[in-house]
Amino acid sequence: MTIQCCKCHKVKSGDKWLKPNSRTLRTEMVTHTYCPSCFDETLHEIRFVSQCADKAVAIA
Ligand SMILES: [Zn+2]
Repeated sequence: MTIQCCKCHKVKSGDKWLKPNSRTLRTEMVTHTYCPSCFDETLHEIRFVSQCADKAVAIA
């Protein structure tokens, strides 16, 4: 089973995340997740968006 980041498309190999190539990427057996850096990024984005939503509610 290949584990691939759905954001940057890197593929997990052991405890490392590598750029995909034809050897690591077998599309019939791929499960998608976030690599640690994209997970952090997404977490920050979610926090930013929720902060904006709070402000929008406060203005309205
Ligand atoms: Zn990623």
